[in-house]
This record gives sequence, C-alpha cells and structure tokens, in this order.
Amino acid sequence: MRKKTLREVALDGKRVLVRVDFNVPLNPDLTVEDDGRLRASLPTIRYLRERGCRVILASHMDRPKGRVVEALRLDPAARRLAELLDCPVRKIDQCVGPEARDAVERLHPGEVLLLENLRFHPEEEANEPEFARRLAQLADVFVQDAFGVVHRQHASVVGVSAFLPAVAGFLLEKELAYLSEFLSEPPRPFLLVVGGAKVSDKIGVLKSLWRKVDEALVGGGLANTFLAASGLHMGSSLVETDALAVAGDLLREAAERGVQVHLPVDMVVAPEPREGVPRRAVPVDGMPDDWQALDIGPQTLREYEQVIARARSVFWNGPLGVFEVPGFEQGTYGVARAMAANPGLTVVGGGDATAAVRKAGVAERMSHLCTGGGAALKFLEGRELPGVACLEDAP
Ligand code: ADP
Ligand code: MG
Repeated sequence: MRKKTLREVALDGKRVLVRVDFNVPLNPDLTVEDDGRLRASLPTIRYLRERGCRVILASHMDRPKGRVVEALRLDPAARRLAELLDCPVRKIDQCVGPEARDAVERLHPGEVLLLENLRFHPEEEANEPEFARRLAQLADVFVQDAFGVVHRQHASVVGVSAFLPAVAGFLLEKELAYLSEFLSEPPRPFLLVVGGAKVSDKIGVLKSLWRKVDEALVGGGLANTFLAASGLHMGSSLVETDALAVAGDLLREAAERGVQVHLPVDMVVAPEPREGVPRRAVPVDGMPDDWQALDIGPQTLREYEQVIARARSVFWNGPLGVFEVPGFEQGTYGVARAMAANPGLTVVGGGDATAAVRKAGVAERMSHLCTGGGAALKFLEGRELPGVACLEDAP
C-alpha cells in the first residue's frame, strides 16, 4: 500500500511536526562530525518553509536512556542545520510542555524550531500515549522523515499518528523507493555484498535475500563464521560459534536456490586489530593459530571487484574488514570504489558501511546511501515497518 506524502496534504500556514533523524556523530568540541543526516532532511524542511509552515523538528540523539545527558543535547545539530538552511533555527531545551508550546506559538510562517532530544524522556521509547499526545498537541500535521527509526515502536514514530494526520517526508519516500526496487524487479544480476561482525545480526535479511539475489560476496567477521562452518580453521579470528549451524544452513539454502555465494580465498591476518602491528595476507587454509583474520586479502578483492563490475544492481551492508583500523581497510575501500565505478543501481545500508563509503571518498558516486541500517535490513527482510504502516494510505 502506498502511503501519503507531504505533497498530498493541505499544509499552507500549518504547524507541522517533522520527525527527523538528527542522530549525528559529534566531535569532542561538540560540533557535528558528519552532517549527512542533516543534509538528507533539507528537501522536506525547505518544502515546508516555502509553503509558509511553522516547522517543528523532533529527533533523538544516541541513547540517553530516559535521562537528560548534557553531551546529547541537540544544540550542535541546530547550529549546523542553521548553516545548511541559511536561516535561523531556534532550539529549546524541552520537547513537550509549556516551554515547547510557547516556542511554537512564537513561530512565524517559514520559521524552524528544533525540540530537545526526545529520548531524554523514557516515555518516548516506551511509546507512552500521553507523551505522544503532548508532542502531537504542538502541531496540525505530522511528517515522518526519520527513516533510521521507522522500525521502532516509539511515541514520536508511531504514537503521534493516533492524534494527527501523518504522512511521509521526502527522505522517507526516497529511501523506500530505492529499497523497494530490490524487492520488486532489481536489474540483474542482483548482487548482495555483506560483511560486518556477526551472522546473527543478518540471518533475517540473508534468508530473505537468498530468494532475490543472483550472487553474494561475503566478508568481515561474518565470512570467518561461514568459513569455519565450511570446516576451515580460523585461528583466533572472530567466529560466532553459536551461529555455525545457521551459517551452514544458509550456505546450503543458497546452493539449493542457485545463489552463488563467494567466500574469501585469502585474508589479511594480524595478532590483533591495532595500527602498526605486523600483518600479512594468507590463503584461507593457512590461518596462523594465534592470529586473527581482519580483512579480505588482495586476491579475494580482485575477484570481488570483477563480480561487482558485472552486477547491474548491488546492495551492500557491513564492512569487509576492521576498516576503522589503518592497515585493515583495503578490502572495504576496494569494494566501495568498485561499487562507485558501477553505473547500475548501487545502494549502501548500515552505519559502518556508509561511514566507510564516505571515508573512501566515493559517497557521491553511489545511487543511494541509506540513513538507517536497521530499518533498511528490516524492510529487505520483508517485515512491516511500524513507522510507515501508521501513516495515511494514499488514495
Ligand atoms: P553496518 O553498520 O554497516 O551494518 P556492522 O555493524 O554489522 O556493519 O559491522 C561493523 C563492524 O564489524 C565494525 O566494527 C568492524 O570492525 C567489524 N568487523 C568487520 N570485519 C571484521 C573482522 N574480520 N573481525 C572482527 N570484526 C570485524
Ligand atoms: Mg554498525
């Protein structure tokens, strides 16, 4: 069912509550380190301003667990947003109550207000109806544009929709459009690239995507577990022993469905994931006892680059190695560059994989970087997203 977007509701002059995802990484001096999520929200905010709306933005940041945490206030996001919009952004230290109501009353058409971190209130994550009602009271219309949280049953995601007409913003619309392509008729060959630390995080999406993809490239800690499940000795590598049976089942299922799963043929190994430690590339059957596999090796990367080059659509989640540590980033960056060079549909989901793409300097050359990893995986698993389901249906 298609959902209404902000193009399909009366907005002129209204007070509009927009759930945004301003959960951005901060520098130690409390400036915004990566403003990708702020930039992603600009089309919706600009559209509302042009229509003379009073724009009330609500977001969470990190996990303050229902308490006020000074370092997790949204002031840095407000300052950066004001620069990006080139207009003042008012920020208050509350998200509900008299201070919030007064601030909204003082807003003129086209002005922007950012409320305080929603998760300072335990009622937000508990989806408390009274808290949702108090948030909704501030506005006439609700716009959901925080793709990163639509898989969550929170007051500002689901609860508010009981009290206000609720529609999708431009970012949410765009995220769903890209991801839907993979579930409907993706250009073929359709390739999945998957890495990251654990198999258990990805079982759902792997099971679901085995029905869709033609090929898969596996790396990261995930590959270690798959290799161990195929009987290889993995030394001191991160192997998820609880998931060995599942990993074996997944490989068999893929084979039955005709999905060609590529596992590494060589790996970069080292005693530990630390800058400057001795490291070398070894074939997967030559893993030293006390060492860990921390990246895919050069031969694997060459093979993966070729597979990526012949794909017409690629979805990537999870880095192929411990790319945060210098010396173990080549596989991840190599895959990022290979995807960037592919003119087809290239979408990256997951906080770490998208961070790696930005660090590799190829973000602009991907079709799309998802602003929400968890939500993207849930969607590709074929599961309903509560924050989307609760929006008004399009006629
Ligand atoms: P994403 O955020 O893209 O979904 P994940 O959160 O699933 O990715 O996984 C990212 C983590 O996986 C990173 O912290 C990275 O260091 C770790 N990782 C990748 N490869 C390995 C490996 N070979 N051994 C241990 N950890 C790994
Ligand atoms: Mg992650």
